[in-house]
Amino acid sequence: MANTSRAPVPAGADLGEIRAAARGCRACPLWERATQTVFGAGPPDAALVMVGEQPGDREDVEGAPFVGPAGKVLDRALEEAGIDRDLVYITNAVKHFKWRPSGHRRIHDTPNERELAACRPWLDAEIELIRPQVLVALGATAARALLGREFRVTRHHGEVVHRLDGPPTIATIHPSPVLRARDDVRAAQLEGLVADLRVAAELLRGTA
Ligand code: SF4
Repeated sequence: MANTSRAPVPAGADLGEIRAAARGCRACPLWERATQTVFGAGPPDAALVMVGEQPGDREDVEGAPFVGPAGKVLDRALEEAGIDRDLVYITNAVKHFKWRPSGHRRIHDTPNERELAACRPWLDAEIELIRPQVLVALGATAARALLGREFRVTRHHGEVVHRLDGPPTIATIHPSPVLRARDDVRAAQLEGLVADLRVAAELLRGTA
């Protein structure tokens, strides 16, 4: 196992400076096989921050989060929930694409606890600087990072979790499984994602 430390977030830096510093991060081994660091994107004063797991294949190439097929699902879900994506800051718990080869394809591989811990300072810095009103965790990995290892998205998705150390947080599914779902369950999965995002929309309006 290669060395894993903690991401070197520069003290007192603004979001742009932190984004620039993250480009050279070597705090865990994931940078070695990825094309580039994929940092969060969106307004620096966003009321809503959404956290996914890690960049995917397209995101790794383009250098921006949620621009691939899963991002299209998220776009649609946000629109149906009445949330303007342009007003949302979107990031990931881990900033480099972790993958394994399968023929000519690069297949997503789940980041482990050490990689999540190494990358955590970047995520903490984003949240601390943006100070959103609401956080949304997309999928089990992001939920574990924000709400603890015991949290189960399957049981508690769509619930508002009030935390002492951060803004109210809602967990929901990651949009990727919606893409992979069988035709007969895809619509229900998307509907579930939209319903959870509507809770975030209500929180932002102060009606939840
Ligand atoms: S995944 Fe995170 S901690 Fe690991 S090298 Fe990339 S930016 Fe650094």
